Amino acid sequence: AKEGGRGQALAFAEEMEREVRERRELEADLREAFESDGLTIEFQPIVEARSGRVVSSEVLVRWQHPTRGEVVPDVFIPIAEHAGLILPMGMWVLKKACKVAAQWPDLETVAVNLSAVQFMDPNLVETVSDVLMETGFPGERLVLEITESVFLKDIGSASEKLDGLRDMGIKIALDDFGTGYSSLLYLRNYNFDKIKIDKSFVDEIGEQSEGLAIIAAIIALAHNLGLEVTAEGVERQFQVDALRTLGCDTLQGYYFGRPDPNPMLIGEIRNEDWN
Ligand code: C2E
Ligand code: CA
Ligand code: CA
Ligand code: CA
Repeated sequence: AKEGGRGQALAFAEEMEREVRERRELEADLREAFESDGLTIEFQPIVEARSGRVVSSEVLVRWQHPTRGEVVPDVFIPIAEHAGLILPMGMWVLKKACKVAAQWPDLETVAVNLSAVQFMDPNLVETVSDVLMETGFPGERLVLEITESVFLKDIGSASEKLDGLRDMGIKIALDDFGTGYSSLLYLRNYNFDKIKIDKSFVDEIGEQSEGLAIIAAIIALAHNLGLEVTAEGVERQFQVDALRTLGCDTLQGYYFGRPDPNPMLIGEIRNEDWN
């Protein structure tokens, strides 16, 4: 048993070493990709539940690795944070998004994600302001999506930052709502404009009535606080029907459209039989 234990420990150490090496490699490749314009962005439509009209679009960053194929943001965003790349990368995404959206007046707003590390940047408000100036994009048309993790890492200045951004007309969305530990507490303590109900709740619609009860309660709560509600990860017609009935404001998910490099395709979404 002793020998086996030692063998296992060795295998474990080798596995660790392999993971560290792979991570370091990915980090170098990501730096190279970012510096040589190898990253792209895609747009996913956000639809007004009442009318079926596309009112907004979420920007999602993409990385096509030369040998590994597509690496998903859930993998490379943490790497970018670790490598100190997230700030320039995040601003690149924001600038690009503003430039594209500026030429696309039918779209009311464009939504850009901010990771906790980006939100912690003491220069965040100033940098975002610079991007708006440079691109001529109005703050009123920008939504910044943040998650609760922001408040775990940055207790002191979070409120000030939110206010600084909102002073520019920017709207703040609390992303992945309901997945953290204290979602309700954050709604009470900070100023948001909207919440995005996490896909895991939308997935529950139709499976159990509890699933619907929770979404109904979240929507009612948000509306009582004067917040707009977006449901994420909407894939099925019965989810659309239920969310419309509950008065959810906007809907996003594969049902309406997958993220796409060409934002103009979004204007072509048709919703016959909507009413
Ligand atoms: P998120 O902000 O919650 O984005 C929604 C994710 O759900 C996206 O995955 C989107 O492609 C996916 N999605 C949308 N509709 C559906 C649906 O109907 N079904 C399913 N199964 N998935 C759907 P993606 O693009 O892989 O992004 C994952 C996460 O990476 C994002 O989660 C966000 O946290 C982060 N991320 C993406 N782009 C950026 C960025 O530019 N900056 C930062 N900081 N984070 C980003
Ligand atoms: Ca998001
Ligand atoms: Ca989300
Ligand atoms: Ca997410």
